[in-house]
Amino acid sequence: ETGQDAGGADCRPSVSFELFPPRTDAAALALGRTIDRLAEADPAFISVTFGAGGSSRDRSLTVLRYMLEHTDVEPMAHLTCVGSSHAEANRLVREFLDAGITSFLALRGDPPEGADPDAGIRDLDSAAELVQLIHRVQEEREPFAQVGIPGLPGVSQIGERPRPERVAVAAFPTGHPRSRGPAQDVDTLLAKEIAGANLAITQLFWHADDYLGFVARARAAGVTIPILPGIMPVTTPARLRRLTELTGVEPPAELEIDLEIEPDPEAQAELGIAYAARLAADVLDGDAPGLHLYTFNRHEAVLDVLDRLGIGANDRLVNERNTTER
Ligand code: FAD
Repeated sequence: ETGQDAGGADCRPSVSFELFPPRTDAAALALGRTIDRLAEADPAFISVTFGAGGSSRDRSLTVLRYMLEHTDVEPMAHLTCVGSSHAEANRLVREFLDAGITSFLALRGDPPEGADPDAGIRDLDSAAELVQLIHRVQEEREPFAQVGIPGLPGVSQIGERPRPERVAVAAFPTGHPRSRGPAQDVDTLLAKEIAGANLAITQLFWHADDYLGFVARARAAGVTIPILPGIMPVTTPARLRRLTELTGVEPPAELEIDLEIEPDPEAQAELGIAYAARLAADVLDGDAPGLHLYTFNRHEAVLDVLDRLGIGANDRLVNERNTTER
């Protein structure tokens, strides 16, 4: 199961999730339970965001380690160029590999709100360069490695470090906010594939045609890697407003209005889940290789989406039983 094709023996599309590192001990505890529940859906991987500038580095690593130690789920570490020099990013990738994390989502990252767009960028300034760095990290010598100073890593230990396996990148079906136009969005993705990316994950979008049209343009331009659609069930009007601010992707007016005028929180959640399930069904019908679900650190809504599509944890168990019995 690679998360890069349409699924395994039961033809179930690959499913993956995104989490962010918790900010408090209580949130960390709750997140452990969320991860356990998400793991029941047998995701291809769960990715953990990285605060640009490295502010969340230790908390991200703790969540990724939890997955390695307590679940069978493949952890994927987001990494950003913002706030990191080439040398620092090298060290960080080594640290992740040494911890057993071999999947990465290489990103440029965003500067803090209101800052200059290039703030925090040093000698590593695009996701494509970060992809190359991740692949090359093994080739670059650690200080003193060759001379074998006692207590420091030697050449043999470098050879034993696991290799990066999944190196994912971001893609923008409705255009990156700073992009000059649709062609640049496709060209940037192609450059990331040429640099060594083997998976793309999209920014949120609200219409299946945005995703399907982008994939068609990317294929026409020579992009061959799987492009996973990123989908989020948005269960409150406040969250929709915040997401729009963060991503710059305009939501459909009908969803915005329906969420605003619906007073009951449960009915609001239902609106968001139903919208996400319809969108997910439409992109799967259009041959999307799987679904990448943004969880907002809650399992309920995303698992509900999978159940409605007939690809939740229970459906998986039934499928497995049918396959074994056949
Ligand atoms: P790149 O591929 O390097 O560039 C993307 C686009 O940026 C280009 O097409 C171009 O339009 C524009 N651009 C880049 N450089 C310039 C320049 N010098 N001048 C003008 N335009 C330029 N951010 C985080 O901080 N942490 C995360 O964990 C995180 N996770 C994400 C996960 C996903 C799935 C997605 C889609 C985004 C995520 N982001 C995250 C946000 C991401 O870092 C930003 O959208 C960032 O602006 C672009 O990153 P990129 O990797 O696509 O950059």
